[in-house]
Amino acid sequence: MNILIFGPNGSGKGTQGDLLKEKFGLDHIESGAIFRKNISGNTELGKKAKKYIESGELVPDNVTIPMVLDVLKHASKNGWLLDGFPRNIEQAKQLWEDLLTDGEKINYVIELQLTRDIAKDRIMGRRLCVNNPNHPNNIFIDAIKPKGDFCRVCDGALSARADDLDEDAIDKRHNIYYDEETGTLAAAYFFKNLAEEGNFRYISLNADADIHQIKETLLKDIV
Ligand code: AMP
Repeated sequence: MNILIFGPNGSGKGTQGDLLKEKFGLDHIESGAIFRKNISGNTELGKKAKKYIESGELVPDNVTIPMVLDVLKHASKNGWLLDGFPRNIEQAKQLWEDLLTDGEKINYVIELQLTRDIAKDRIMGRRLCVNNPNHPNNIFIDAIKPKGDFCRVCDGALSARADDLDEDAIDKRHNIYYDEETGTLAAAYFFKNLAEEGNFRYISLNADADIHQIKETLLKDIV
């Protein structure tokens, strides 16, 4: 099973992606994570990508596209969940062409929909627990609201990540995501059109719904 997942930063894409990965034993392929690993390993690829990532820009297509397509070719036989790629229309077209050439298919494309304002609030509302960074706390999401100033899971002290409060950085990322002409939404709609031609299913979900409800819908729809 091969799945593409789209969603703006702040939409809970990571959480929902983990769920699908677990359920179907998929390789979770995250372009951002591949870059980060290469940067910490100081590889040639990492050196090329570093300045773009640090300034919040997309790494150029001539670096990103071959890197991701190569990882896909070596993915598990169970299939993959691709997250963070494609981020623009060119990446979308090349991905589709490459899959056709290899006789590979996509089973589902998921789009987590969230308005830009809510996505931004959600990022700025994230709080990190000193005891465990995986304890979910967000002052703007009812289901995971902290207990006052403390972690809802363990009462640990909370803090906010500096980059989660950097409005310019958030806006820059969202400018790329919400661009329907050539950006990430354009890439999503490229696949939506292919789905309408009957190639696979395109599932749009309201990411502002309750987290558990989104999970249930996903698990029900994807078989
Ligand atoms: P992410 O963890 O998905 O937010 O990605 C972190 C950074 O990696 C992004 O801000 C980009 O600089 C870079 N990146 C990740 N995926 C892509 C992609 N598909 N195309 C270009 N750059 C990417």
